[in-house]
Amino acid sequence: MSDALTLAPTAFPPFDNSYARDLPGFATPWRPAAVAAPALLFFNAPLAAELGLDAAALQGPAGAAVFAGNLVPEGAEPVAQAYAGHQFGGFSPQLGDGRALLLGEVHDRQGRRRDIAFKGSGRTPFSRGGDGRAAVGPMLREVLISEALHALGLPTTRALAVAATGEWVYREDRLPGAVLTRVAASHLRVGTFQFFAARGEVERVRQLAEYTIARHDPDLAGTPGRYRALLERVARRQAALIARWMGLGFIHGVMNTDNMTISGETIDYGPCAFMEAFDPGAVFSSIDHQGRYAYANQPGIARWNLARLAETLLPLLSDDADAAVAEATAVINAFPDWYQAEWLGVWRTKLGLAPPSPADEAGDARLAEAWLRLLQEHAVDFTLAARHLADAAAGDEAPLRGLFDAADGGPAGITAWLGQWQARRTAPGTPDAAALRAANPRIIPRNHRVEEALAAATEGDLAPFETLLAALRQPFDDDPALSPFAEPAPAALTAGYRTFCGT
Ligand code: AMP
Ligand code: MG
Repeated sequence: MSDALTLAPTAFPPFDNSYARDLPGFATPWRPAAVAAPALLFFNAPLAAELGLDAAALQGPAGAAVFAGNLVPEGAEPVAQAYAGHQFGGFSPQLGDGRALLLGEVHDRQGRRRDIAFKGSGRTPFSRGGDGRAAVGPMLREVLISEALHALGLPTTRALAVAATGEWVYREDRLPGAVLTRVAASHLRVGTFQFFAARGEVERVRQLAEYTIARHDPDLAGTPGRYRALLERVARRQAALIARWMGLGFIHGVMNTDNMTISGETIDYGPCAFMEAFDPGAVFSSIDHQGRYAYANQPGIARWNLARLAETLLPLLSDDADAAVAEATAVINAFPDWYQAEWLGVWRTKLGLAPPSPADEAGDARLAEAWLRLLQEHAVDFTLAARHLADAAAGDEAPLRGLFDAADGGPAGITAWLGQWQARRTAPGTPDAAALRAANPRIIPRNHRVEEALAAATEGDLAPFETLLAALRQPFDDDPALSPFAEPAPAALTAGYRTFCGT
């Protein structure tokens, strides 16, 4: 029956498969597995428009067939990409696309090259023991959280579509299956470099570095010192990204080197979650027993992962081994300062500390640290507290103080802090309440709301998912109708909250 389906030739802009074409031996040509009963559960119309897709051609049965993997669009040459990775500190020389496929690349309306890829599209030569499948819940979870991060202004891979397969996948329970279509600046990972470096394939590491430079840092092409410069660019992108995660209370949950992009986009939404009451040790992932990927560890882990990337580049940095190590080390040692500068920038924006002058740096950092200490001492909601700074800036400190009073009757700390904060905010050009409202979201994907929506979707009711998604796309909006999504979960619920990798 699906044989009869044809896709309008205008459905996708022309595919260009540079990864498959320019990097022979880096991926295996492969086809998605056909599934029983494709049905579109989610289609990202704004993203489709950005990519220049023909939404009308993709929302009917032909679209469902495409996004379930049953109908490969003309011009796409799907491949399974090879990569390795350190998982929780231990090296796996061969991971790769075990349940994913790169369909190909398109140029979006702004001329940027974007990968279009499947997740959950069946077994591949990299599947090891896995079934190559994904379930509806975790794929819609990726939609919710990645769309939230995007609406919050963070670099992230995007979800273009989720199609139900009409087949079961077997985990602890029997779950409805789905395929996610993901759009990314690229799927180049730290682990991609590790795959070839671990095999001693220096020429391939060089080819990969050249491809990466052409794609992400074309201004470096052909320049002397470009491999070190590439490492520095990746490090700076990650410093900026992680600082922004930290400013939102986002915990990725599985910062393995295969889940860290070269582009600086957030990728691989598995056990990630936003924290509620501030706790630097917060970790939700059921498999992160040691808290390796806890909130406060994220910058240090990023640096550790970058050191693994640096190791893969050593043979390219210099013919002299010691000189190569010195170059790599210089970048890795500079990372904490780059991160600290990004972190300070994030907090200056969140706290409305402007105009930033170098003279205020130490004082501003202390003010941000004191804020975080207060939130921690009183177990105050990380998101709402920052949001209420806008009210305080507008002259009403009560909503903010209320969070502290309710916590444990210790308003002295917040009174002192507010005094210091107001004193710092007297400089001309200080951001006003509206600027603070634009910097501190009201709505984040609260864990209880996410779970609620996914549980309903798994039972076939998409309405809560759609309502939540609409709210997450307006994170800075004061609309009273969105209040249910702004409220924290009962503390007991958050304390016991565990997330799963979604495999
Ligand atoms: P992740 O934890 O999703 O980052 O995946 C780590 C590795 O396991 C990657 O190589 C994935 O392709 C692979 N993987 C995860 N789930 C599955 C699955 N259900 N079937 C096959 N491979 C999988
Ligand atoms: Mg992964």
